Amino acid sequence: MVSKKHALISLAALALSATAAFAQGKGPVVGVSWSNFQEERWKTDEAAIKAAVEKAGGTYVSADAQSSPAKQLTDIESLISRGAKALIILAQDADAVRPAVEKAVAEGIAVVGYDRLIEIPQAFYLTFDNVEVGRLQAREILKVKPEGNYAFIKGSGSDPNANFLFQGSMEVLKPAMDSGKIKNAGEAYTDGWLPANAQRNMEQFLTKNNNKIDAVIAANDGTAGGAIAALAAQGLSGSVPVSGQDADKAALNRVALGTQTVTVFKDARELGGKAAEIAVQLAGGKKLSEIQGAKPWSLGPKKQNMTALFLTPVAVTKDNLNVVIDAGWVTKDVVCQGV
Ligand code: BGC
Repeated sequence: MVSKKHALISLAALALSATAAFAQGKGPVVGVSWSNFQEERWKTDEAAIKAAVEKAGGTYVSADAQSSPAKQLTDIESLISRGAKALIILAQDADAVRPAVEKAVAEGIAVVGYDRLIEIPQAFYLTFDNVEVGRLQAREILKVKPEGNYAFIKGSGSDPNANFLFQGSMEVLKPAMDSGKIKNAGEAYTDGWLPANAQRNMEQFLTKNNNKIDAVIAANDGTAGGAIAALAAQGLSGSVPVSGQDADKAALNRVALGTQTVTVFKDARELGGKAAEIAVQLAGGKKLSEIQGAKPWSLGPKKQNMTALFLTPVAVTKDNLNVVIDAGWVTKDVVCQGV
């Protein structure tokens, strides 16, 4: 018969070993530095990273820079002091974040530049192919508006993705621009990716062109929303094609309703899961080049020799809304509300 005393002792031992196992962990502490959670997608990215880190036996710790490049620097330091052996960083400002990343690298901490380029060769670069996103946006808009005045609502100037997207769009539009079929009626970065700034830029383009804007290449769904609000104020929403990206719920609904032409689906669940896997492997001593699917890439503004992995984005228009529904990204009710 087990005595009460014995039972208590073994219970205590059990509790102790559970605590010890937790403290030691089976996997590394992975620190994630977020720029902000302004766009809907980032909470999905976060859930995917957290789940995959924990599945690998690691511990997820995080910080939200709340759009402040300065806060992001101290966030990264505090993630390191909380024991992070690998960092996943969504940079608010590609240049401002460099000193913190250089310091982490010097301390032997693995770094994954998440979604946005951090052009330091010791950092892994994981993203969807942003140039391709820009191509997809332009291709779908060009199909419905092969000529006319195009306005470009670009992303944030401190985010390298803004220029990659623009580059991809311009590649597709170049022949029509060279032949004079398409004119650039205005282009502007959207500070902080803020929809309100996109709306203001769009208002200015409309005023400057006496409302003769025929198409809008907006960099993401948030900025598309801003541009569409400006168009709506002039009674033009629905008649001027607008692009976006992220497959935000509101944007998918606009695609169904016909006020937005295209969004680009980048499955954040996939990107997040991959980032966590890579971070755990790098923390475990794998080299950047040993990551499955990694390839050398040096097409950044600083032409650094990076190791990168690109996932493939998918254009979503009224014709293939089933893609996001079938992927379990959203329900049909949400997409088709009010249609
Ligand atoms: C991402 C987009 C996102 C934007 C604003 C970009 O770097 O690639 O998916 O909409 O940032 O957060």
